[in-house]
Amino acid sequence: MGLTAASTGGRAADTGLEIRRRWPDDRLIALAGNPNVGKSTVFNALTGLHQHTGNWPGKTVTNAQGGCVHHGQSYLLVDLPGTYSLLSRSEEERTARDFLCFGGVDGAVAVCDATCLERNLNLVLQVLETGVPTVVCVNLLDEAERKGIQVDLPALSRALGVPVVGCSAGRRQGLTELMDAVSELGPALPRQVRYPAPVEYCASRLVHLLEDCGLNPRWAALRLLEGDETLMAEILSAADCPELSEELDRCREELAGVDVTAALAEALVRDGARVAAAVVRQSGDPDRRDRRLDRLLIRGWTGIPAMLFLLMAVFWLTIVGANYPSQWLSELLFGFQDVLTGWCGALGVPDWLHGALVLGVYRVLAWVVSVMLPPMAIFFPLFTLLEDFGYLPRVAFVLDHAFQKAHACGKQALTMCMGFGCNAAGVVGCRIIDSPRERLIAMLTNSFVPCNGRFPTLIAILTMFFVGTSGGPGRTLACTVLLVALVVLGIGMTFLTSRLLSATLLKGEPSSFALELPPYRRPQFGRVLVRSILDRTLFVLGRAAAVAAPAGLLIWVMANVTVDGVSVLSLCAGFLDPFAQLLGLDGVILLAFVLGFPANEIVMPIVIMAYLSTGTLTELNDLSALHTLLVDHGWTWLTAVCTMLFSLFHWPCSTTCLTIRKESGSWKWTAAGLLLPTGAGLLACFLTAALARAFGLA
Ligand code: GDP
Repeated sequence: MGLTAASTGGRAADTGLEIRRRWPDDRLIALAGNPNVGKSTVFNALTGLHQHTGNWPGKTVTNAQGGCVHHGQSYLLVDLPGTYSLLSRSEEERTARDFLCFGGVDGAVAVCDATCLERNLNLVLQVLETGVPTVVCVNLLDEAERKGIQVDLPALSRALGVPVVGCSAGRRQGLTELMDAVSELGPALPRQVRYPAPVEYCASRLVHLLEDCGLNPRWAALRLLEGDETLMAEILSAADCPELSEELDRCREELAGVDVTAALAEALVRDGARVAAAVVRQSGDPDRRDRRLDRLLIRGWTGIPAMLFLLMAVFWLTIVGANYPSQWLSELLFGFQDVLTGWCGALGVPDWLHGALVLGVYRVLAWVVSVMLPPMAIFFPLFTLLEDFGYLPRVAFVLDHAFQKAHACGKQALTMCMGFGCNAAGVVGCRIIDSPRERLIAMLTNSFVPCNGRFPTLIAILTMFFVGTSGGPGRTLACTVLLVALVVLGIGMTFLTSRLLSATLLKGEPSSFALELPPYRRPQFGRVLVRSILDRTLFVLGRAAAVAAPAGLLIWVMANVTVDGVSVLSLCAGFLDPFAQLLGLDGVILLAFVLGFPANEIVMPIVIMAYLSTGTLTELNDLSALHTLLVDHGWTWLTAVCTMLFSLFHWPCSTTCLTIRKESGSWKWTAAGLLLPTGAGLLACFLTAALARAFGLA
């Protein structure tokens, strides 16, 4: 029988999900719910895993699974993509439905948002209809209380006929009670939605023919009456009952004038509203504050200025905040280098080994850590706070019109925002875009916005060449404005390239999509800080460090191995120099970008190391020393501008390229993702340099 699922491991039948049970007697529990109701927060709190959470619908693009033990019983929890129904209209709905019905689950937790229970009940009623033993988890009770909404949980439980547990997963409240209820799950007699009489009559005639199909017979009968293409053949063959097809044909004839799907959907909505009306009490207008904020943040002429202002605020705090810790870290780490050198001397380590390990590997690592860590540790949490507050989908709303004009999808604004943190993450995030054409456009253009590996380079160059290194609030502000200008340039290029792609390689009209604006929520400060530092910052830093260490070694070797008295590094740089000059750069800078392919973070350390005659990275924690070094090697304002432009537009790092390959499944599109920003960078630098020289400005 094809419909029941694997019970101990492997791929849950027909659902496409790989189930990895840790123990054979793990109980399999699916977490279902509308998007943005806190499913992943519940999942993370119970399993200790770190699924991405954020205040916008659609971010759960993978099906995470994780284990937990409660009262000696082990459970495997599966976080399903958020859906509004199980009607198989979209990929997410099909995945959730198939997993619930054919995934061999022992039970389900239907997570709801207490602040909009009525809408959530639609899905809950459908989950109950599948016959899977279910606990209803009413989450976000804290938020509901703040908005003056009260939910009578015992009454809800009586109305639905299944256990109901209230919780505030963000505060870790109610989770033990939730698992208690899950552990007691057993057969129940849940509420049955009453459909129009003709549908009920036909369903009742099919039910007894479906007793052995391995599914809930009423649920299967309703799907047959609906004529659900994705299930018909399977249900009919699983039921293995010759009379079923004939009876179904007769029912279909009788229901010829009835739109069964619409009738079912209507009844579900009506029933959900009836239950909600009986159990929800509300005082005042809970959405007033949201409407006021939206008037400011997304409407009319204030939307874009508000967006730019918030962007500036994030950059300003990052620049100001990163300054001091950066200096402390670099003093500490570069100071420790002397200690390491002392140890090498005492242990009699040969000079070349000391040079390679301490002056090569360690120094590049120290540079990457001291320059990268502070801005990331500030930028990521700030950005995550905005996400948790519910602002990111508003950016998508504000930019939707512009993306539509570029024949792309408004949701691309969300993936673009993710790219600010890490372009590889932004490319994975493109899964939220349904149309394959628009998803490709979003993936190929993601690296037009600078990731965290490039921000420190941009900030350092801006500070040295355009703002001055002596600090002061005015200068920091100037640096922030210039950085925002660069980012806006990146966004402009995203629009332009998206438009070009949709006019050429990826022709097509923009699809329409409904972007749901989530409620504004008070960000969970503590959790956001800890998670964004531990998950995002340390992850990106770890990756950068893993690349920086071998790169440091390679650069040291290239800088110290000489041919006819000239280092290999200088030879390579000399080879690239004529071409680089055309771009307003020099051979060393271009070589640094090439060698920085594994991670953008190491571009500046390579430039510095190549300029230093000793072939090692000197202590350049002081930006004015670095400025002097660069100017001594011929840098002008034009070199600075072109380096920033090239940093903004060049090939994505190796991780991003591999991610594009994985997500698009094609080397051709990976090549396009590499060539597009590179072409834009070459053109931008060439034109800038040529114009500046033509007008005698440089
Ligand atoms: P999912 O889409 O259902 O997986 O939702 P998430 O777990 O990503 O949560 C959506 C948003 O709600 C995030 O910003 C969470 O921080 C927030 N959130 C989740 N649970 C709670 C809660 O109990 N209280 C509050 N105030 N916020 C919560």
